[in-house]
Amino acid sequence: MHFDIPCFVRGMFYFRACWSRSAGGLQCTAIPAGKGRVVGTLFIVPTPIGNLEDITLRALRVLREVSLIAAEDTRTTRVLLQHYGIKTPLTSYHEHNKLSKLDAIFDALATGDVALVSDAGTPGISDPGYELVREAIHRGVRVEPLPGPNAAIAALVGSGLPTDSFIFLGFPPRKDRARREWLAEVADERRTLILYESPNRLTSLLRAVLETLGDRPVCVARELSKVYEELRRGQASEVLAHYEANPPRGEIVLVVGGAPEARAEAWVETRVREALRARLEAGEPLSSAARRVAMEAGWNRRDVYALGVEEKDAQPQARRKH
Ligand code: SAM
Repeated sequence: MHFDIPCFVRGMFYFRACWSRSAGGLQCTAIPAGKGRVVGTLFIVPTPIGNLEDITLRALRVLREVSLIAAEDTRTTRVLLQHYGIKTPLTSYHEHNKLSKLDAIFDALATGDVALVSDAGTPGISDPGYELVREAIHRGVRVEPLPGPNAAIAALVGSGLPTDSFIFLGFPPRKDRARREWLAEVADERRTLILYESPNRLTSLLRAVLETLGDRPVCVARELSKVYEELRRGQASEVLAHYEANPPRGEIVLVVGGAPEARAEAWVETRVREALRARLEAGEPLSSAARRVAMEAGWNRRDVYALGVEEKDAQPQARRKH
């Protein structure tokens, strides 16, 4: 529980007194007021992506304590609030009013805290939120993002694909040609790719992945945290065949392995030798030719150098430069 004390010090700060049982009592913090006399905090509150238990204790406390909840769909959020006995007033904040609603939300922030929620998961991730956060920062409003549910991260960590580095791509374009061009842009990307897609476009997306990126390992994470949760892992061709035979339903995240080194290693030895020969015949020094061919082919430089020595020895004496 906290109380804002509108005590401005040279217009720069106001003070916030906060009673916290976990922190052991009353605390007072000076908060930059920023532009205007904004005293509220904008909380970004993730909500469950299927299972109502997937909400943090802090998220519930914030939803209970704020003056207003800006929700993507007030009907969806009302179900969550009713489940937890929360009676905070709601207002809509969605794709179609996300700009026109800004002033009303900042009016509310002038007198209290506001929580932003979307229908499911983390606001701002393929959901409204970005414009509000950007404007809040611009107006000097304190923004507090709460960690919580997100379908992309749950799918990634359950996929069995590398998690050390990944790219979230969001929803692909709907038209086949645009989608293939969009995928082609990440064809050489080594990091794991995460995409959102609707069930009726999953098979065409998998086909496009197969034809544009190759037969990579993928994971379709479907209905995460719900009764019919499924994580189907395999090569793109196998998973495609499965869903062609069993059209999927529900919500879906597709996780795709990054471009394998094998993409480059697919250069067979004869191709490496040809590339080396061409460079050596053009007069390029062996060390430079080996380094550049190794990079292009995805081979180890020493191995390419060793092949280069053989190629050079095989060159007619007169054409040898080094
Ligand atoms: N903000 C949300 C988040 O943090 O994940 C995403 C919202 S986006 C409009 C909805 C998409 O997220 C769905 O079409 C699906 O791709 C994915 N998604 C949401 N819930 C899911 C679930 N339970 N299982 C699998 N995918 C889900």
